[in-house]
Amino acid sequence: MATEKLYLRDAYLRSFEARVVDVDAEGRRVALDRTAFYPTGGGQPHDTGTIAGVAVVDVRKEGDTVWHTLAGDSRDAGDGALPAVGDEVEGAVDWERRHALMRTHTAMHVLCGVIWNEWGKAVTGGNMEPLSARMDFEFDPLPEGFGQRIEELVNAELVADRAIEVSFLPRDTALADADLIRTKLNLIPESVPEIRVVDIVGLDKQADGGTHVASTSEVGRIRVTKTESKGKGNKRIRLEVVDG
Ligand SMILES: [Zn+2]
Repeated sequence: MATEKLYLRDAYLRSFEARVVDVDAEGRRVALDRTAFYPTGGGQPHDTGTIAGVAVVDVRKEGDTVWHTLAGDSRDAGDGALPAVGDEVEGAVDWERRHALMRTHTAMHVLCGVIWNEWGKAVTGGNMEPLSARMDFEFDPLPEGFGQRIEELVNAELVADRAIEVSFLPRDTALADADLIRTKLNLIPESVPEIRVVDIVGLDKQADGGTHVASTSEVGRIRVTKTESKGKGNKRIRLEVVDG
């Protein structure tokens, strides 16, 4: 059964009520009719929190279903007991971790936009943890003084307080948008009729399933901690997100 993914439309939703629609007792996993828990994907790690008072330790998407792994032992009968199919439960997302991931994810998109505008280079990969990230770009070699220049350019965009808008576009409309071409929309399966677009207004527009803050000023500031070569045409930038 498809899970309604509340985080796609409201990244600020921290708690919600839902009904249990499937239970995998062996794996201590539950599926709900709707969820605010973000599952690992698109370079963004999963949320943590609680469902029916039991800690959520992993969240994965399988097909259209989001599975939440609960802490404890499969024989738990007390406080760590799994809810049953049909139960109404309350979910609560660990907001400190999620908000840190939102700030980090938005910082990565700002970095993409800055590098595209300034050097015309595309991103080749990336990964994030709360308040730290790495991204790879197709530079060869890295420009002189690159780390410091990046820091200045990204932080200027963060101070600029640009709005971040999420929209859902019909596939054909998205494919015709020149601003979206570099995000390789053609790699999204044709069975997906609607494309979710994250627009840092005036800077960077991407097809993206992640959770973002509402304005770049909410990110704070970034610090480039390292730049390194990962081979020909592939250079890595490591950054951390700090309070503004
Ligand atoms: Zn993203």
